[in-house]
Amino acid sequence: MAVIIGPVERLVEEFSKLPGIGPKSAQRLTYHLLRSPDKDAHELAEAILSLREKIHLCPVCFGITDKELCVVCQDEGRDHSKICVVEHPSDIPPLERTGKYNGVYHVLHGAINPARGMEGDNLKIKELISRLEGDVVEEVVLATNPNLEGETTAMYLRRLIMPLGIRISRLARGLPFGADLEYADDVTLGQSIEERREF
Ligand SMILES: [Zn+2]
Repeated sequence: MAVIIGPVERLVEEFSKLPGIGPKSAQRLTYHLLRSPDKDAHELAEAILSLREKIHLCPVCFGITDKELCVVCQDEGRDHSKICVVEHPSDIPPLERTGKYNGVYHVLHGAINPARGMEGDNLKIKELISRLEGDVVEEVVLATNPNLEGETTAMYLRRLIMPLGIRISRLARGLPFGADLEYADDVTLGQSIEERREF
């Protein structure tokens, strides 16, 4: 039997799917919107839709952008000879906030899960290698997360990049093992990229 749910339950359910939103918060947000002026609800809905319509992946680094190239790739003031490899687009803002990195990025869109074997096919690894072969890259900073998947990915990439004769570095230890770059504090992350070590 199909469950019939009304607009209130439906929105509570949708909010509950978001990270960090439990059923209580979902309900609070829904009732807040019910009480808010029409305009606010429309603006929220419009912002969500335009996020999906206008945002695409940068064809160079696979970060997200609403322009042809992302702000970092199109910035000639950045050092394009350094590429910082991250797992997700959401890892870039925390690294940018540290103000300690002036190179460009490459987003893998995931990490290798050792439990499922060395499957890197769905990651942007081929694209990274062709960037390294094509561009004048002097250093690759492996900034995958300091957890099992991130370490496995970093080691896998090192094996691929080493023959190209490019300097490889890894974020300094200091970020706790199992940490997520996205949630690291700015100071620790800043030190970690500044004091990156040969890998
Ligand atoms: Zn880009």
